[in-house]
Amino acid sequence: MDASRAGARLTVDLGAIRANYRQLANMSRASCAAVMKADAYGLGMEQVAPALALEGCKVFFTAHLQEAIALRQLVPEHCLIYVLHGPPPGTARDFFQYDLTPVLNDPGQLQEWRALALKLGRELPAAIQFDTGMSRMGFAPSDLAALGSRSDWLAGVRPTLVMSHLACADEPDSPMNEAQRRRFNTLRELLPGVPASLANSSGVFLGPEYHYDLLRPGAALYGINPQPGRPNPLRQAVSLHARVVQVRTVRDGDVVGYGAHHVCAGERQIATVAVGYADGWQRSLSGRGQAAIDDVIVPVVGRVSMDSMGIDVTGIPAERVVPGAELELMGATLPVDEVAALAGTIGYEVLTRLGSRFHRRYV
Ligand SMILES: *Cc1c(COP(=O)(O)O)cnc(C)c1O
Repeated sequence: MDASRAGARLTVDLGAIRANYRQLANMSRASCAAVMKADAYGLGMEQVAPALALEGCKVFFTAHLQEAIALRQLVPEHCLIYVLHGPPPGTARDFFQYDLTPVLNDPGQLQEWRALALKLGRELPAAIQFDTGMSRMGFAPSDLAALGSRSDWLAGVRPTLVMSHLACADEPDSPMNEAQRRRFNTLRELLPGVPASLANSSGVFLGPEYHYDLLRPGAALYGINPQPGRPNPLRQAVSLHARVVQVRTVRDGDVVGYGAHHVCAGERQIATVAVGYADGWQRSLSGRGQAAIDDVIVPVVGRVSMDSMGIDVTGIPAERVVPGAELELMGATLPVDEVAALAGTIGYEVLTRLGSRFHRRYV
């Protein structure tokens, strides 16, 4: 698609993603995996996964089986693909066929996988996840009490990884981190000698005692700050530039956008740009969002519409804001975390909502 035909241009910097991977991998003696769920956090798994494989990444995680089947064709055969949600009922065969490794989260999933192992007469690999306090996924203490009394609870399954997930890794002072780590250490004793993994992006920054054998970053690879409130050590990987559709001079008292909520004080220049909530640009940025042109920050005024929104560009040289000109909505001047803060959400949601109407470019 021709860039000028789209409302906005999304640029994904694969070099920055590779550099972020290298930086995270160099922080630890543990191996470093890459989390690919939600189409590589909205940036495009098809491009991101091979780039990370070239950077030396050998272990990938997806959330769903469907994502993993797509990923299988994108990375070399020797790469290990884990599916975080495990095998839904009736899907064990698919895992086997596409050489995918399930993360087993409860006795039902274990049973699903063991049944296939029994049928095939061979051991099948799996990661075992323990719930150490998040109450989201993984064997709960009650599951283990029921199973653990039987020494053969894993028969037919060859555990390749024991893992858990931190609830508060982005809050280094939270007592949850240490509590979960201790519980994880206790539970790991059920699987002696099996490689372990606990740290997501923020977890990597909690220190080496959280690293174990495998790091599992997602967000930090894509430029989201793993240490909110502190300088971001990673590189920005995404930029979004919106095209100006129209510019108009409005008079004192004129209103902008649905609901007529923004009332102009004095004569203003309003640029309408071609990005709206249908592009995943959060509607909560109405009257709060920002854009940048030549490093000057200008405000979003009025409500974000489905396909457009108003930007007050008063004071910007007229020749810089003409139909077809571009304003940065996210990138070097407006990092993803800042956009998220203005929208009242987190960088994860800003990225994973990015729509399909943009002209996408990978550099
Ligand atoms: C999403 C996810 C990750 C990656 O988390 P980030 O915060 O994006 O680094 C790691 N492990 C599990 C289980 C996840 O669900």
